[in-house]
Amino acid sequence: MRTCSVCDREYPREVPWRCSCGAPLDYASQPLPDSRPAQFSRASGVWDFADFLPMGERVSLGEGWTPLVDAPEWDATFKLEYLHPTGSFKDRGAATVIAEALEVGADRVLEDSSGNAGLAVASYAARAGLDAKIYVPASAKEAKVRRIERTGADVVPVEGRRESVTAACIDAVENGAGWYASHAWNPAFFAGTATAAYEIAAQRNWSVPDAVVTPLGHGTLFLGLYRGFRALEQAGWTDAIPRILGTQAVGYSPIADEEGSTPDAAAANDLADGIHIRDPPRAHQIRHAIDETDGAAVAVSAAATERERDRLSGAGFHVEPTCATATAALPQFRERGELQDGDDVVVALTGRNG
Ligand SMILES: [Zn+2]
Repeated sequence: MRTCSVCDREYPREVPWRCSCGAPLDYASQPLPDSRPAQFSRASGVWDFADFLPMGERVSLGEGWTPLVDAPEWDATFKLEYLHPTGSFKDRGAATVIAEALEVGADRVLEDSSGNAGLAVASYAARAGLDAKIYVPASAKEAKVRRIERTGADVVPVEGRRESVTAACIDAVENGAGWYASHAWNPAFFAGTATAAYEIAAQRNWSVPDAVVTPLGHGTLFLGLYRGFRALEQAGWTDAIPRILGTQAVGYSPIADEEGSTPDAAAANDLADGIHIRDPPRAHQIRHAIDETDGAAVAVSAAATERERDRLSGAGFHVEPTCATATAALPQFRERGELQDGDDVVVALTGRNG
């Protein structure tokens, strides 16, 4: 069963891709394990956490179990999500959303993306033997588009703003062209990104950090972390939920603006192209996660993003600009009191493809 995230209307699993009221759907319940295993094999990627996952099928390219490493220069710990098979945390959600596609009998999946989600969904669809059609901005980087095409997926470039790409994909979904494997809408995707939280806790011997920081566009990882830490607490595996802190790009920062973020520049941050989302369909859930965890969101300028990307590269972390917003925001969070001295903070380094 699925339920609407706004009006609580219920739907069967197969259809539709959103509620008749327009809001995103979620699973009616979160599966929880009876007890904690004595040890993990760490052999099956996100499926090591199958007891928390609502689908029975499995697809894997070896995602998950990304390293958690010390970063003393940032007074933080980094979760190296950019070391995933296709280069970003999106592999977690692609594994679970494509497994769900198999379960509901879809034979072609559709997705719209500025890059990472498209590559992840196309790659996992190829792994599962499903056709994929990926809508991308006509302005997307050539190398990213080529990588998607090489999986065998159909790539559809769309002119105009990022919103037009989503609109074109939704039109195709509504016209029956395929099943919407969306990293913004499909709850199966968020079930997968929640495994980042399970791993962080497992790698810390079932303790949770004071805070986790992640780039925030659609909230694909942000909400996954919140849901994952919440499920762990409900299962009794951990006893707290960390503050969830999100970083947005100046000019594309609906949540940070509400939070009173004051970045060091007003010009749009065009570098952080992975989070150019002006109207995330799960904004109400992002706000709820911020309220529930005493979290926050701030906006980061292009200059700070570029500076921080160079600094990360100089320390051996080869990440894309979008990802650098997360460490670039640490001083802002500290100034605002959302991070304090001595806080134990995990920063997700989300992607390497930029
Ligand atoms: Zn509804």
